[in-house]
Amino acid sequence: MNIGREILKKAKEYRDYSAITLSEMVKIPSYSGKEEAVCKKIVEMCREGGFDDVRTDGLGSVVGRVGRGSKKLVFDAHIDTVETGDESQWEMNPFSGVISDGLVYGRGATDQKGGAASMITAGRILKSLEYSGKYSVYFTFTVMEEDCDGMCWKYLIEEENLVPDFFVSTEPTSLKLTRGHRGRMEMLCTFKGVSSHGSAPERGESAAYKAARAALAIEKLNGELKPDEDNFLGKGTIVVSKIEVHGPSQCAVPDQGMLYLDRRLTWGEDAELAINQVKHYMGNDVQDVRIPEYTKRGYRDTDYGQELYFPTWKIPEDHPLVRGGVTAYRKLFGKEPLVDKWTFSTNGVAVCGRHKIPTIGFGPGDENQAHAPNETNRIDDLEVCAAFYAMLPYTLENNSEEQNG
Ligand SMILES: [Zn+2]
Repeated sequence: MNIGREILKKAKEYRDYSAITLSEMVKIPSYSGKEEAVCKKIVEMCREGGFDDVRTDGLGSVVGRVGRGSKKLVFDAHIDTVETGDESQWEMNPFSGVISDGLVYGRGATDQKGGAASMITAGRILKSLEYSGKYSVYFTFTVMEEDCDGMCWKYLIEEENLVPDFFVSTEPTSLKLTRGHRGRMEMLCTFKGVSSHGSAPERGESAAYKAARAALAIEKLNGELKPDEDNFLGKGTIVVSKIEVHGPSQCAVPDQGMLYLDRRLTWGEDAELAINQVKHYMGNDVQDVRIPEYTKRGYRDTDYGQELYFPTWKIPEDHPLVRGGVTAYRKLFGKEPLVDKWTFSTNGVAVCGRHKIPTIGFGPGDENQAHAPNETNRIDDLEVCAAFYAMLPYTLENNSEEQNG
């Protein structure tokens, strides 16, 4: 049996099923922390697909499994979405899930219930092929990513001990294979002054001027940041996203100030380096620089949070997982995939950034659909991805056999 040909045939047979699965998921709104209804639907869908196991974790993410192998290959889709924004900019109801002209329409169609739909089809294909290779193939449908990328996976790894050997994010890649993206962090800087009457500012020490000088220092720092060595991820950035100052009255020198910073981190830049840079550029003006915590509770009301730091990740182009992905694509479609990076951030920050687990991305739809009005996804892409996800466990197995033998 030619496994690639068999998988392509099944992905085609299940083409409408993939589109309907996506449409059904789009019809159930699932803003971050409010994913309960869509998760219930996904549990049902995995059961219908004949998955070997389906459960829900402590934060609310759905974990499905096909196969019983000793190694863990994980396909991940976050199933929360951002809000619709100005609904007057949508041509149809964002939760209509309309299927027409080869597209599925609605909020989350690309970011990223499309990946989730292809995963459910892939599980179904693996079951129909009676997959019994050396991987346990996990399909995870994770929560709260739009709010705090990676927290769902920090939880799965650290609290539920689900530690993947290989991880595939199914966020949209336009059917390219991705192997990294920039990290990010938020920083809260505080400033202390001494208040005095507004009629005699010379008696005081203004937190406003300290914050203002510090803000301009950040503008300078942003201009001086450098790209990574091979310019794969490009240059980091830093921006002041909020300024506040307070004092005893509007007729006084303010004694407290706050700057909020958004920092994008390229390869080689981490939290410690970024904080030290900020302190250095702000000099004596700044009192403290720290990373704030994310503490919002999800639908299961579990007490869990993390600092707002999302480490940069990438893996080499010749890594076995990248090579396995390239081989799977070539065997199915007879050509090489483009290997690239994401512009936005994904759950890879926890899995590869924090825990150094090899990660790639391959997903249906285009990155520029994410968070935009009139979001759609291509049914063609759903079919390609379902085939790719079903093929990968077979090629990874063969690749490593070649290495071992
Ligand atoms: Zn996303």
